[in-house]
Amino acid sequence: MTLQDGGSADSKKFDTSRLQEQDNYFVHPWESMQTLGKNERTIITRADGIYVYDSDGNKLIDGPAGMWCVNVGHGRREIAEAMAKQAIEMPYVSPFSMGAQPSGVLAEKLAELAPGDLNHVFFTTGGSTAVDSALRFVGFYNNFLGRPEKKQIIGRADGFHGSTYLSASVSGKSRDKDFLDQEQGFIHLLASPNPFRRPEGMTPEEFRDARVKELEDKILELGPERVGAFIAEPILASGGVVVPPPGYQKACLEVCRRHDVLYISDEVVTAFGRLGHMFASEPVFDIVPDMITCAKGLTSGYVPLGALLISDRLLEQLRGDEDHSAYFSNGFTYSGHPVSCAAAIENIDIIERENLLEHARDVGPYFQAQLRTLEDLPLVAEVRGLGLMACIECAIPGKESLELDYAIGARVDKHCQRLGLVVRPLYHMCVMSPPIVITRSQIDDMVAILRSGIERAAEDLKREGLWE
Ligand code: PLP
Repeated sequence: MTLQDGGSADSKKFDTSRLQEQDNYFVHPWESMQTLGKNERTIITRADGIYVYDSDGNKLIDGPAGMWCVNVGHGRREIAEAMAKQAIEMPYVSPFSMGAQPSGVLAEKLAELAPGDLNHVFFTTGGSTAVDSALRFVGFYNNFLGRPEKKQIIGRADGFHGSTYLSASVSGKSRDKDFLDQEQGFIHLLASPNPFRRPEGMTPEEFRDARVKELEDKILELGPERVGAFIAEPILASGGVVVPPPGYQKACLEVCRRHDVLYISDEVVTAFGRLGHMFASEPVFDIVPDMITCAKGLTSGYVPLGALLISDRLLEQLRGDEDHSAYFSNGFTYSGHPVSCAAAIENIDIIERENLLEHARDVGPYFQAQLRTLEDLPLVAEVRGLGLMACIECAIPGKESLELDYAIGARVDKHCQRLGLVVRPLYHMCVMSPPIVITRSQIDDMVAILRSGIERAAEDLKREGLWE
């Protein structure tokens, strides 16, 4: 591929400024009040495979796969047809009172794919509601078992678990906390397990042990009889693809087991192929948690759906007899929505019949190796990641500030987009998680654009006097 400003031309049939005017009625996630109503967002009008096309006809590689979700790629007719068929046959049934074929088929399939005895599925509308349901389940479980004081929840800095009140409260991205209230009474956040930021002179192993000890110390400080659960993404995705040192997840699970604390593995990003497995907890991190939350790649983003997988071990303790029964009074109108489940069934079928897990395991190391070639660029501080998720952290050597982080991210974003790649950085961090169908030569294209985009961003920063 030759790099050219503006990407390759597609037919221009949209009035972009009119589309942007309409889009300004939409209060987007993380909307800035400074630019509200004045945004000039890129409007995407078409998508196919790993590419999206904007309203001016530019073709862009979808670097983040939408929002870590379009795992099998855009334009899958089979998924659209499965959804249409389901909508025509039977669009909706109340999950509060009846069953439907797609939700049953999908629940059984997820139970088969999930590790250990995680054989029951509570369907939700997305990742936040899956996490919210997991946290509510912790309270329900301990109330049922007659220990209502065992409800403190432990999360981590740099963790991200969603946008409901509870899931946002256990999230630890400090920059997201400025203007929204959080539950503080029963939520505790540990330091980030980011080895890149470990104290000087500390080995990754020592750092891992220190972070694990911090978890155990926190449980002991609060009192194990008061701690209900620990929630952790195996890799902290939105926190900047933070990969904790090897053995960290397993050691944390052992701490939780020692103190009868439930372990919730938030696999909203890592499941359905991103790390080369349907669920990454067991094959990649050697843990069988008590609960797993997932969403995103479950339908490859074609339609919203989330799920909370719960272990039989927990549910067995709650099975009531006539004298002792309780309702898990948590649920959504769209829990197990037939159309969403039909999409998920077809999506999982595609992953299986096209051997996409093997493909992801094959191209993942290449993706990581190629991205690491960018580490020679002065603006690149670190490249990290695993499988098909990675982060290129940029920084001006010796300088750190929120304003600079924004400035770097904005310039990298602008140049990469002009060259044909969607980056959408988290501040100064370019998070890459392409559709898992990406090929080696498409990875080469992506890395070539990143190199030029970062080089051009560095030139801008120097020209503007931000980098002397
Ligand atoms: N958990 C993790 C690990 C996530 O990355 C996200 C979203 O990015 C969520 C939960 C929330 O998912 P949703 O946006 O579908 O509610």
